[in-house]
Amino acid sequence: MEERKAILFNQETEEDRVYSLSLRPAQLSEFVGQTELMANLQVSLQAAKGRQECLEHILLSGPPGLGKTTLANIVAHEMGARITITSGPAIERAGDLIGILTNLGEGDILFIDEIHRLSKVVEEFLYPAMESFQIDFVVDKGPYAKTINFNLKPFTLIGATTRSGLLAAPLRERFGIFHHLDFYNAQELSQIVANSARKLNVQLETPAALEIARRARGTPRIANRLLRRVRDYAQVKTKAGHITAAVADEALRALAIDEIGLDDKDRKLLKVIAQNYKGGPVGIETLAATLNEELDTIVDVIEPYLLKIGFLKRTPRGRELTQAAGEHLKVLPAAKETQPKLY
Ligand code: ADP
Repeated sequence: MEERKAILFNQETEEDRVYSLSLRPAQLSEFVGQTELMANLQVSLQAAKGRQECLEHILLSGPPGLGKTTLANIVAHEMGARITITSGPAIERAGDLIGILTNLGEGDILFIDEIHRLSKVVEEFLYPAMESFQIDFVVDKGPYAKTINFNLKPFTLIGATTRSGLLAAPLRERFGIFHHLDFYNAQELSQIVANSARKLNVQLETPAALEIARRARGTPRIANRLLRRVRDYAQVKTKAGHITAAVADEALRALAIDEIGLDDKDRKLLKVIAQNYKGGPVGIETLAATLNEELDTIVDVIEPYLLKIGFLKRTPRGRELTQAAGEHLKVLPAAKETQPKLY
């Protein structure tokens, strides 16, 4: 039940965290896909190494599970640097950030996940630290107040965000390198699934890897999770534990993942727009209230993939269902030119 819920939410579970340590690529060469981003990143890495300098601060944006944390670890590995990992909501007070910053060594990497959720106060401490590797404290009050500058060792901040639009402009401007991670295509995901199967010692036929990949919502974290569920299913339901495309399909059907990878949450959202709001447009707050769902979960987790495959449209008046979504849900008759784009 726990796992089913996690699949529906596409959020990192305890099991994901454990497995991500063994399945996460450690080196640049093992990272599949995002070709343009990787080529640019490689140039930045090589240039910084050549000059024996720190890399500039990097901002990574994109939906959850696409490899932002993995990339930060790879950058640290390539630079031969230590990495400290934290997240926006975990740094509650300025004191927490000062503790982290003063413990960084020269050339270290500081990875802040969900950086858009840093509080304003903490964020302001970060500005001089990013810009000139300094932090300024004010001690005492009133006429005796004075500012003390504390010098930090040069470091690289890697910020990750699911919503770069929410980042304050002064923070965004202090990053020298920006990269956006996009959904993976089925070919790339099937390579990731095949690599993970090898690491987990699972016998997986190539068409089965492709079947899992096609139904993973363009997301490596989901692909790895589905692989583990299919592995369980094969172990229990088949004699040899050998995974064919038919076994993968059966297992995914049992998890209510449809033939294009949509789950209960996706279908519920699309159906609510179709049935309660005549296909939209409907405002996102109204939609969240009807679904009894957090607005952030809809915006960060559910809708990016539906927008990507052309099932949903974002208009100034709200979210609207497309013809392709209507056909998939069987609430609209088929029109030839609107086949869903699969990723
Ligand atoms: P994010 O930080 O964007 O939420 P993660 O970096 O935690 O995503 O990635 C989730 C999991 O997906 C990782 O544990 C890793 O196993 C896998 N993964 C992500 N991107 C790739 C990739 N390009 N190649 C191989 N595996 C990947």
